[in-house]
Amino acid sequence: MKTLDAIAAELEGYDPQALRADRVNEFLSRLVEPVLEQDQVSIFQALGRVLGSDVISPVSVPPHDNSAMDGYAFDGGQLQTGNADGGPLVLQVVGTALAGKAWHGMVKPGQCLKIMTGAVLPQQLDTVVPQEFVAVRSGAVEGNVEFIAIPRGLLQAGDNRRKCGEDLMEGQPALRKGTLLTPAALGLLASLGIGQVTVMRKLRIAYFSTVDEILSVGEAPREGAVYDSNRYTVFGLLTRLGCDVIDMGVVHDEPGLLEAAFQHAASQADAIITSGGVSVGEADYTKLIMRKLGDVAFWKIAMRPGRPMAVGRIGQSILFGLPGNPVAVMVTFLAFVRPALLRMMGSTQAATPLLKARSLAPLRKKPGRTEYQRGIVSQTGDGVLQVSAIGNQGSGVLSSMVQANGLIVLHHKQGDVGAGDEVDVMMFEGVL
Ligand code: AMP
Ligand code: MG
Repeated sequence: MKTLDAIAAELEGYDPQALRADRVNEFLSRLVEPVLEQDQVSIFQALGRVLGSDVISPVSVPPHDNSAMDGYAFDGGQLQTGNADGGPLVLQVVGTALAGKAWHGMVKPGQCLKIMTGAVLPQQLDTVVPQEFVAVRSGAVEGNVEFIAIPRGLLQAGDNRRKCGEDLMEGQPALRKGTLLTPAALGLLASLGIGQVTVMRKLRIAYFSTVDEILSVGEAPREGAVYDSNRYTVFGLLTRLGCDVIDMGVVHDEPGLLEAAFQHAASQADAIITSGGVSVGEADYTKLIMRKLGDVAFWKIAMRPGRPMAVGRIGQSILFGLPGNPVAVMVTFLAFVRPALLRMMGSTQAATPLLKARSLAPLRKKPGRTEYQRGIVSQTGDGVLQVSAIGNQGSGVLSSMVQANGLIVLHHKQGDVGAGDEVDVMMFEGVL
């Protein structure tokens, strides 16, 4: 376990008084470690969990070559030969293969098999012509035998064949350890006949608010006091990530209460998240107690919103001391805490890529800090993404977070943005 000083010494340009946003992520990725313990769960319980070991495919999917269309299967080699006059390839229909029922029989050159989507392709047949492409000539040649005519130039050998193992090959890894299990991954596990998986255990995260002028929902309004909203946004953010939340509510600004709260949290949780009490010049005990109980760094991050943040370790728990302002809490969570928690969860997932959108209006931006502006991203008629920043970007204006569907990320070195310029956006879909 490295001390904070040791991590700081490894980072180029570490300046706790004006820390770049990307350095924060680097620091945190060195501070936190993935959990080790694992659980066995059924796939119904596995959504959002992180896979604990590689899943090797016990079968090939699909298990046989099969038809991708309703049509007629035949040996595609005959597409080359055929008649010199360019007339259609005429084949005799010798039977019907239905999905789920093997068809046993011989299909010789000059013959084909009527076949349904998903039905197994007999070995000597590699091509399927969709039924809507052919002319059926019932009884045209002898008795009631059916013939089909396939126009030239429509098909190539191998068309409309789903190959055995094209989705997953027996013996090959189907999913890697560290994969965050999505609905698609659950389906994939089921397609292999796997109903139970090994996943990393859930994180337990303790949360409390530390600001004094804060009311809990249910308390009567009091002059100068605001309701504790951070408790609920953090609860929502953590729940979305699949963490177990230990909700400790509001802890008032008394050394004894704070110390007990931190100790209780550290004894139970993988990480402690607090909000409030970490800004400069605060006349409260939060920072004092953090410093007393743990190895903690206090940062001023070159960002907006959300400058102050405390980070470190109390006992075995990682501490994320977030600022108090409601938007700053959410932004610092999304930018720093979420990636760190994903790492702790054992996820190897790369960060979701930022999208590019055209800014509808000029944006003022000072180089030398990262800004996260709340924005509304939409699509023009021709499919181009555009974004408009929400009017009130105050770091306490939670309604702007509700209105927004993403954050405009204005990077450290970036300056003013002109109307029509492209900017990076982080969409909320899937994270909020
Ligand atoms: P601080 O970072 O502690 O100076 O907090 C800045 C401001 O954020 C406070 O004055 C409150 O208005 C607001 N704030 C702090 N904690 C909360 C909370 N838990 N819920 C809602 N607003 C809060
Ligand atoms: Mg304050």
